[in-house]
Amino acid sequence: MTAEADLGFSGEKLVAERLTIIGSGPAGWTAAIYAARATLDPLVYEGAFTEENRQMGTLPLGQLALTTEVENFPGFPAGNMTGYLDAAIDESKRRYMAPHGGHGVSGPELMELMRQQATNFGTRIRTDDIVDVDFSVRPFRLRSLSGEEFESHAVIVATGARANYLGLPSEDTYKNRGVSACAVCDGALPRFRNQPVVVVGGGDSAMEESTFLTRFASRVWLVHRRDSFRASRIMAERVLANPKIEVKWNSVIEEVLGDDAHGVTGVRIRGARDQAVTEVLPATGYFAAIGHTPNTGFLRGQLQINDKGYVVWTTPQRTFTSVAGVFAAGDVADDYYRQAITAAGTGCSAALDAERWLAAQGIH
Ligand code: NAP
Repeated sequence: MTAEADLGFSGEKLVAERLTIIGSGPAGWTAAIYAARATLDPLVYEGAFTEENRQMGTLPLGQLALTTEVENFPGFPAGNMTGYLDAAIDESKRRYMAPHGGHGVSGPELMELMRQQATNFGTRIRTDDIVDVDFSVRPFRLRSLSGEEFESHAVIVATGARANYLGLPSEDTYKNRGVSACAVCDGALPRFRNQPVVVVGGGDSAMEESTFLTRFASRVWLVHRRDSFRASRIMAERVLANPKIEVKWNSVIEEVLGDDAHGVTGVRIRGARDQAVTEVLPATGYFAAIGHTPNTGFLRGQLQINDKGYVVWTTPQRTFTSVAGVFAAGDVADDYYRQAITAAGTGCSAALDAERWLAAQGIH
């Protein structure tokens, strides 16, 4: 049951939610599982299936839905999960997941499992974005993309982060025609098969994307602006040992090349140290893997945000934000660990923090 409150506009009396969770990655679903089991009747805004969200990489189920094997989420060792997945996830969703033998769990599978688990305990879900919030009033006020306006006594922000691009005009020109920030989503497309492709970046994402692309591409150029990777050693070693990957050290992308008929045809790189040195790498694909930006645009100054755009946790070891009753979980507030398991962990913390805060307000 939800508590009722007088909105005070249009004389309309609306139902105020007790707890609204914005976001549908591991943080959002873990918060929902805990909140639902605590009978808080949580409402999750999982995001909308819009073209803009597709382009930005902010579709429902978050970044894990854009990845392949998840080898480091505890509880899913390599093995045949088929029977369990068939029993746990609705067949209509299973149909869209690639068969996945022997490698534990995939990102999309893990996210569907979490969503299903939250649903099993009664979580209500809206496939819609929250586009506006007012945290200066109580209960808080929220508005969705579809125009739904409502109130909520507590809110958990778990909107995650999205992939960055370099910001070159030529990246925009060829988006979806060879330019991508998600090899896992797009790598298997015909235009990349048996063709050379380029990846830019030197972190774990760049390692993962390059390695993944070798399944399809004839060759992967990995362009990095420095002479060493920031990626974890095991992933960097995998890249360096892969004969299909060639690293272009100390190099930056100057322009993505292409034409209307073919989309991307290559990239022009230039030396990061010796700027006079340029080279054209022929390629049908260009994949940006240069880090992430938190999805905090809809907050519009309503919460304290740090200089990188992440929501600030104001109290050590708590998911409190600068507004009492608003909690943050997962990558939207974490630019340091950024792992599925840490996001899930803070999602759990946020639900417990919200439950205790609501109880202290006398909202049950
Ligand atoms: P990241 O670790 O921040 O690395 C970003 C990379 O892009 C860096 O190498 C950086 O170069 C480069 N870069 C940034 N801006 C650039 C620019 N304007 N021009 C050229 N290069 C630029 O980001 P990430 O790789 O996305 O990883 C984020 C987090 O997710 C990490 O914690 C990572 O461990 C985790 N992750 C884990 C896995 C996995 O375990 N399977 C997979 C993917 C990501 P510099 O090095 O010179 O700064």
